[in-house]
Amino acid sequence: MSVKVAKPTAQEAKSNPREFSIYTLLDKNNDSIFEVQALQDAAKQYGSKNPTVKEGNLKYSQLVDLLVKPGEPCEGKGDCLSWAAQDDSGQMAPWKLTRRQPGPEDIFLQVVYCGVCHSDLHQLKNEWGNTSYPLVPGHEIAGIVCDMGKNVTGWRLGDKVGVGCFIDACRNCHACEIKDDNYCPGCVLTYNSKDKEGNPTHGGYSTHMIVDHRYCLRIPDNLQFDSVAPLLCAGITTYSPLMHYAMNKPGFKLGVVGLGGLGHMAVKFGKAMGLEVTVISTSDHKKQEALEVLKADHFLISKNEKEMQAHAKSLNGIIDTVSAAHEMVPLLGLLDLNGKIVCVGVPPEPMSVPAFPLLAGRLSIGGSMIGGIKETQEMLDFCGKHNVVCKCEIIPMQYINTALERLVKNDVKYRFVIDVQNSVLLPPQ
Ligand SMILES: [Zn+2]
Ligand SMILES: [Zn+2]
Repeated sequence: MSVKVAKPTAQEAKSNPREFSIYTLLDKNNDSIFEVQALQDAAKQYGSKNPTVKEGNLKYSQLVDLLVKPGEPCEGKGDCLSWAAQDDSGQMAPWKLTRRQPGPEDIFLQVVYCGVCHSDLHQLKNEWGNTSYPLVPGHEIAGIVCDMGKNVTGWRLGDKVGVGCFIDACRNCHACEIKDDNYCPGCVLTYNSKDKEGNPTHGGYSTHMIVDHRYCLRIPDNLQFDSVAPLLCAGITTYSPLMHYAMNKPGFKLGVVGLGGLGHMAVKFGKAMGLEVTVISTSDHKKQEALEVLKADHFLISKNEKEMQAHAKSLNGIIDTVSAAHEMVPLLGLLDLNGKIVCVGVPPEPMSVPAFPLLAGRLSIGGSMIGGIKETQEMLDFCGKHNVVCKCEIIPMQYINTALERLVKNDVKYRFVIDVQNSVLLPPQ
């Protein structure tokens, strides 16, 4: 029992982007033929009615009618419904804003999923002192292409698209030239930044976005879509240092400090690259998970001096993901000759490091911040090839304030991902 739905025109795709993206994701064989039961279930899940779907043909507008769901009234004016914080309480609530019209180089994307990053939390509460409100966070975005400008080539309506931590850069500086555009001083961040016209940027806790195609990423089709979003920040933040610091050769002995959103991705990449991975954590409560689920090879408790000493000089390199204050000396002790430790977390205070262990082992300490667009694409392709995705807890937008409280306590495995498409709806006109 199947239903053949007439394929939408570009105009229809654009005018109901949410329903178009649901249609695209349901249409797995790309033939616009659906099981009756699948449409019935989708109408129940995404729409507001519980209709009887009959086999036969359906106009695209009738499909839209099944999937449309009116939202709730909210503050603000504009064509894009978001969830925003209005002040440093960080409390999120629905807010409408206006996105720019797509220009010739732009992609219009319907946001389907958006990951919740620790930096969202810091900026919501103005903990870095630079937040302008209203703030719409979200820089781990997985969406569907619903429209594009006339100069955009190589993309099609319905393609899966990712947007990460930044959406533009100067395109002229040394960093941009060598494709490390994440280090460009003119980098335009996805939210809490200003675009080249001086307008505030707003992130993925919103129905849709307009992004220059040069800063859009292709998402491999085989990856589970809801678990892809965090790759755009947590993924690239750990992949990039593994590549840049040449810690990606099979057999390399890698330590991963901290097993949160970033750390668990470092373990997954390490295993996919054929490394020998040791997780270093403050307590043993993540031990079973690290060894049995994430398949790490070893697990060390940093507070257990005996154990740390028994593993002295056992590692070639370390990715340190911890953002809380912590001792560096015990970690340096784990490194073999020429070892390196790369920080991707930002503790609030400067770290204190004695020189002698650095000299004695010819050790180096480095840092790394996100990754460039070119490398992010390489990371996504690597994930497609090795089926690497983030381990996520999917939540509706309405749960975000609770999720943020839980994030403060690190009570998540390992990333919250907001089901934007299914829970952020345009309000009634
Ligand atoms: Zn992030
Ligand atoms: Zn630049």
